[in-house]
Order: sequence, then C-alpha cells, then structure tokens
Amino acid sequence: MTSRRWFLQRVPVGGAALLVARPCAAQAYPHLGESEPRALEVGYVEDAAKADRQKFPKYTPGQVCFNCDLYRGKPTEPWAPCTLFPRRVVAGKGWCDAFRRRSV
Ligand code: SF4
Repeated sequence: MTSRRWFLQRVPVGGAALLVARPCAAQAYPHLGESEPRALEVGYVEDAAKADRQKFPKYTPGQVCFNCDLYRGKPTEPWAPCTLFPRRVVAGKGWCDAFRRRSV
C-alpha cells in the first residue's frame, strides 16, 4: 500500500537512521598532534596546564579549548573540531595561543 500515511510513517525513521549512521566530526578526523607544525606555531597542547608560559605569556589558567570561541564542540565532548585546524580535532582541555574566550 503506497499512501500518504505510509510515506509519512517511514520518512522520519529513514532520516533518523541517516543521522545516526553519519559519524560526527570528532570521530572522522584525527587528533591534532602537539608536534605538528601548525600546532607548534601556536603552542597547542592537549593539556592547557602544560602551556609554555615563557613562549606564550598570553596563557592564563582557566583558558581551555572548551571555552574558546573557535571550539566547535559541546563542553561535554572531550575532542572536537577547531576552526583554526581544519580536518583535525583538538582536546577540550587543550589550549593554544589563538585562544579567544567564548562570549556567552
Ligand atoms: Fe583550542 Fe581555541 Fe586554540 Fe582551537 S583556537 S586549539 S579551540 S584554544
């Protein structure tokens, strides 16, 4: 039976299945390595407490990727994309010299 009801019952289920099957960016891209040239340029570290304060004096405790405006994940996601590093994910507890506090 092909009817409007049949269509309306199945399309939302199919759409939901596609959303579940699609990997999120945090799973699709590799972690940004601290020794990658782009990361070294801005002093990226996976643990903000290990930021090189001599080389990057702008760092202050409390600055982490989680509360950076360029972090594209939720605070509950330990790894997420960052606008600064395409095709990589950064650590939510990380930091780099491009940190810009999220306004909200
Ligand atoms: Fe983390 Fe922000 Fe630097 Fe990206 S720009 S690595 S989110 S501190």
